[in-house]
Amino acid sequence: MRIFTAVLATETNTFSPICVDRRAFEASLYAPPGMHPETPTLCSAPITVGRRVAAEKGWELIEGTAAWADPAGLVNRRTYEDLRDEILDQLRAALPVDGVVLGLHGAMVADGYEDTEGDFLTRVREIVGPDILVCVELDPHSHLTKKRLAAVDFLVYFKEFPHTDFVDRAEDLWRIAVDTLEGRVKPVMSVFDCRMIDVFPTSREPMRSFVDKIMAMEEADEDILSISVIHGFMAGDVPEMGTKLLVVTDNKPDKGSALARDLGLELFAKRGTFIMPQIDEKQAVAEAMAASSWPVVIADLWDNPGGGTAGDATVVLQELLDRGARDTAIGTIWDPMAVQICMAAGEGAEIPLRFGAKSAPGTGHPIDGIVKIVRLVANAEMRFGESFAPFGDAAHIELDGIDIILNSTRAQSFDPTLFSVMGIDPTQKKILVIKSTNHFYASFSKIASEILYCSAGTPYPNNPARTPYRRAPRDIWPMVADPHAAKEGVA
Ligand SMILES: [Zn+2]
Repeated sequence: MRIFTAVLATETNTFSPICVDRRAFEASLYAPPGMHPETPTLCSAPITVGRRVAAEKGWELIEGTAAWADPAGLVNRRTYEDLRDEILDQLRAALPVDGVVLGLHGAMVADGYEDTEGDFLTRVREIVGPDILVCVELDPHSHLTKKRLAAVDFLVYFKEFPHTDFVDRAEDLWRIAVDTLEGRVKPVMSVFDCRMIDVFPTSREPMRSFVDKIMAMEEADEDILSISVIHGFMAGDVPEMGTKLLVVTDNKPDKGSALARDLGLELFAKRGTFIMPQIDEKQAVAEAMAASSWPVVIADLWDNPGGGTAGDATVVLQELLDRGARDTAIGTIWDPMAVQICMAAGEGAEIPLRFGAKSAPGTGHPIDGIVKIVRLVANAEMRFGESFAPFGDAAHIELDGIDIILNSTRAQSFDPTLFSVMGIDPTQKKILVIKSTNHFYASFSKIASEILYCSAGTPYPNNPARTPYRRAPRDIWPMVADPHAAKEGVA
């Protein structure tokens, strides 16, 4: 067998001011054929797992390009078209193939392309014809469109959020692909539209039990090849935004449809109960200052560069300054211009500085003050599990007793080493403010006396009922109270 594989992925927050061009892909991952490293990034496990499977089966794996850009805003039209055409040309050159196994994110939006993955997959199908297996692993924070469903044999999504299972799901993808190519199964997709949009962390209930349940179903019933919850991505203003339930059966479409509907309606019944309880910046700062054990971690959860925002909001910092908080550190506020000014001034200098909140409305106001430059680090990195996450040239400044880390490469706050590399001992602070929605938890929970989830300002469109969508559906929950009742009432 000859299998073609490639990766083209990013997550587009269409409300983000940070646009994505070819340099953004090259800064995150751009690997020409055969050059992908041994360890996968979020969306490229189909390549690394595929190498192992192909070696075991004695099959030929033809690698195309792998490209991934960190989540941000709209993708430049030329950048998308060039990367797409580069991979399609590689596929044409690889023909004939028996299968195409891809890694995509599923929430990429390019200038002129609301459904980039639908466009890409339709072109892949045109090249290989109707009878060749095409399958994809995707991130659940994505849009499941009719165009994509029409173009592929089956899709497999990560089940966990945080996405700790992207390698496991690539194993599922390849196992089903091998069984299909060897004639043991015939994958058929059944989809239920939950007519809602929500956030589904699997590190807490009720989503933890839901994911455990669907995994047990996959295990127990050989008709069921794969069950995925497509969470949807509320920061993508596209016509097919929303939560969907996908069941892939071994050619049992009626059974798949019934199960997709049952599971989808179960999720719908629990709408609004999945996300962690949140408080505003006034309550968060008051509770943190009143705490009796430390450090209290305030997660500024919506100004998370991992969700495509700039990461430069100052709403929580302003509240801390207004309340006269001390023994407090903030990591990070993205401001490359301010970092450049600090670098020029040098360690130990005291300078007037304006920083933060320059990217977008809803992020607070720039902070002005006489700051002391405590420490400067070029090409700073924090730990992230077994690897490192860069946050660029960085400046540790002090303003009114608050330690602030300014950075020049957008990065979410994965790990407390973010503070220690800048000369701040995070365990000696009373309050730590970080920018991350969920990925910070594993490392920061080890040092935190308490974690407060703070929704401050509107750096991210986190309330779909109020988000000024232009393209997304307005007849789903929470925009309307019960879309299923309305829909079935009319029918
Ligand atoms: Zn995701």
